[in-house]
Amino acid sequence: MRLMDAQKPFIIAGPCSVESREQLNAVVSSLAQMPQVSMVRCGVWKPRTRPGGFEGLGEKALRWISDLTQKLRAEGFRPLPFACEVATPQHVELVMRYGLSAVWIGARTTANPFMVQELTEAIRGTGLTVLVKNAPSPDVRLWMGAIERCRQVGLSEVIAVHRGFDVLKNGGYRNHPLWEVPIELRRVMPDISIVTDPSHIAGRRELLQEVAQWAMDLGFDGLMLEVHPHPDEALTDGRQQITPEGLKELLGKLVLRQTDGGIADKELRLMRGQIDRIDDQLLRLLASRLEVSGEIARVKAQSNLAVFQPKRWESLLQQRLSTAEELHLEPEFVKGIFEKIHAESVRVQQERLSGAEKDVEKSE
Ligand code: PEP
Ligand code: MN
Repeated sequence: MRLMDAQKPFIIAGPCSVESREQLNAVVSSLAQMPQVSMVRCGVWKPRTRPGGFEGLGEKALRWISDLTQKLRAEGFRPLPFACEVATPQHVELVMRYGLSAVWIGARTTANPFMVQELTEAIRGTGLTVLVKNAPSPDVRLWMGAIERCRQVGLSEVIAVHRGFDVLKNGGYRNHPLWEVPIELRRVMPDISIVTDPSHIAGRRELLQEVAQWAMDLGFDGLMLEVHPHPDEALTDGRQQITPEGLKELLGKLVLRQTDGGIADKELRLMRGQIDRIDDQLLRLLASRLEVSGEIARVKAQSNLAVFQPKRWESLLQQRLSTAEELHLEPEFVKGIFEKIHAESVRVQQERLSGAEKDVEKSE
């Protein structure tokens, strides 16, 4: 049976890195008691962007994982598959020696087709489940390519993990989710399960719930979340890790959508998710536009110019209407929107201006 079939949403949780036997045992004992958790993640080799940081405990950590698995079994807990990142064929060999069930190909490795090829050949025939994280750059083909390489060597279970993208304007995320990329992956590879990694997308725990909910609303298949007994003391990714209690709370608040309503339902969910995302972008754009209005107020005040400039307003409106026509948008609809936007811009500018005048009065 494929691990992914265990339950939906498929929840993978565990520390960013294994740091000590105590830390591992503490966090996994809590996770073992949470029925929603289907797999434990724990990094033992850590890809650090710059040298000098904590790079993971390697084989020693694998031994602790193997000991812990036996201990949990002896205590009567359900078997929990463990996964760690592998980046070289030697890592794969060690993972097999210590009996882990799954591995993930990290974002930096997915970006390198030579490494992916070497790894998949090393994994061939092991029976390991393979999770493929997207590469840092928002190129769905790199992600697909790594999945295809896994398939070419006949790996039995391949799961995509969406961990966000490294883009210039990250919108407050550590790695921008760019939901259109996993949506595209779903369109071109509909039979691949997609698990979202809110931890590496958000980069800070306050944002996890929102990202996790987006993933569920878009109909993705699971979540990978970093959990640590004392997140603020974590040796890697402390800001984004949560305690087991935090995980329980997050999962408790998650609104789960119906998962099996046939193709139409799946399509509808994707489209509604896209609408929500577009509205979110519209609001952010409006906020940026109003910020610029505030700046304009400052410049106008310096040059003693009136806030309302009728000629500018008339030409702006004409330009917007002609663009609207090109886009086949109803002119009255667009005019109404821009009248509202302009009125708000004037209001913001006046507010700024009277604020600035009060400041001047005070300093006089
Ligand atoms: C991780 O999962 O801890 C990790 C290093 O992730 P990524 O490869 O997505 O950066
Ligand atoms: Mn991490």
